Amino acid sequence: MSTITELIHSIPVDPQTGAIAVPIYQTSTFVQEAPGVNKGYDYARSNNPTRAVLEQLVAGLEKGAAAYAFASGLAAIDAVVKLLQAGDEIIAVDDIYGGAFRLFDKVYKKFGISVQYVDTTDTEKVAAAFTAKTKLVWLETPTNPTLKISDIRAIATLAKAHGALLCVDNTFASPVLQQPLTLGADIVVHSATKYLGGHSDLIAGIVVTKEKALGDEIKFYQNACGAILSPFDSFLLIRGLETLHLRVRQHGSNAQAIAEYLEQHPLVDKVFYPGLPSHPHHDRAKQQAKGFGGIVSFTLKTDTVPAATALVCSTHYFKLAESLGGIKSLLCHPASMTHKSIPEDIRHANGVADSLIRLSVGLEETQDLIADLEQAFARAGSSKQVEKLPAYREQEELALALAL
Ligand SMILES: *Cc1c(COP(=O)(O)O)cnc(C)c1O
Repeated sequence: MSTITELIHSIPVDPQTGAIAVPIYQTSTFVQEAPGVNKGYDYARSNNPTRAVLEQLVAGLEKGAAAYAFASGLAAIDAVVKLLQAGDEIIAVDDIYGGAFRLFDKVYKKFGISVQYVDTTDTEKVAAAFTAKTKLVWLETPTNPTLKISDIRAIATLAKAHGALLCVDNTFASPVLQQPLTLGADIVVHSATKYLGGHSDLIAGIVVTKEKALGDEIKFYQNACGAILSPFDSFLLIRGLETLHLRVRQHGSNAQAIAEYLEQHPLVDKVFYPGLPSHPHHDRAKQQAKGFGGIVSFTLKTDTVPAATALVCSTHYFKLAESLGGIKSLLCHPASMTHKSIPEDIRHANGVADSLIRLSVGLEETQDLIADLEQAFARAGSSKQVEKLPAYREQEELALALAL
C-alpha cells in the first residue's frame, strides 16, 4: 500500500450493512450455529471485527504479512520480548525509549533475559556485540530525543547472519516515512498512541511481522496474555490512519521550517533534526526514509535547567506535556520530565543536555508556531532574565510536579 488512494480503499465497507465507516463491534462473544461453527469469530479477546480491520490496515501500511493491536505501545513491545526464552540476549539501541528500558531491566531481567545497550548508529559496534545467545536486535530510529539514525539495512544483514530477529520501533518515523520490513527487519512495533492515532486521544500499540509464521506467534501471545486493543480504540485508530499521510507530510514541513529557524537563533546552541544538513546522519536518514518527521530537539547556549524551564513555560501554542505525534504542538524538557529517572552522567553521555527541549511539532500554521517560539525566547531570554521572572518559582514547582 503506497498511495493514499490504496489506503483509503483498503478500509472495507461493512459487509453486513454497507456502512462506510467501520462499525464498532462492541461485543464480548459471538453466537455459534453449532459448537465450533461460527462466522470466524468466537470470543472478542481472540478476534474482533473492528480490531481485525485495523490490524489488516497497519499490516498493509508497513508492508507486513500480519499485524496485531495491543492496549499500549508497551504491551506491543512486551509481546515481542515474549518470543524469547530465559538465557537469550537482546542487543538494544542505547538511548532506548525509557519504558522499554524499564520493561527490559525491571521485568525481563528477572526472567533471565539480558540486554546489551549499544550505540547502534555505529554498525561496527553492533557487529561486535553479537554472542551465540543473541536472539533479538532492538532498534529505534530516529531515537528520542536526539534523533540519532541507525542503518536498518546493514543491521538487518548482521542480525540475519547471526540468526537473530531485528525489531524496529518505528513510532517516530511512521510507515509513511520509513518501512523497516522492506529494509530487512523482521518485526516493527509502534506506539500507535503517537502518529498513527495522531489526535492525542488514545493509548495503543501495534506489532507487525514480515512473515506470517512469526505473526502467528505474536497472535498467540496477544490472545494468551490478553493485552488487546478495545473495539472503540480500534475504531479511533482506523479513523486516525485515514489521514496519516496528510498529517505526517504537514508535521514534517512544519518541523523542517522550525528546525531551520532554531538553527539561526542566537540563543540556541545545537539543533537536532535529521532534515538539517548539519545532522550527523542526514544522508543516512535521506537514504532510508522519505522524510524526517515532526520531532525537533534543541539546546540553549545557557545550558541550564532554569533557562530551559523558563522557555518551556513561555510558549502558548506549544503545550508542556509528555507524548508526541498529535495535531497540537507539544514541548517537553527531558532532563526534568521523560528522562528524569536516568542518572545525570548517562543522560549527558546520550546527548540529553540540561537545557535540551524536545518539540513535537503539530499541525498549526508554520508561521504561528515560529512566532510562538520567538515570543517565548523574548520572554525567557537568558538565565539572568529568567531568575528575575516573577513567575519563575512557580514554573520550577510546576516542572518538578510534572516530573513526578
Ligand atoms: C510512547 C512510546 C512507546 C510506548 O508506547 P505507549 O503507547 O505509551 O505504551 C514506545 N516507543 C516509543 C518510541 C514511544 O515514543
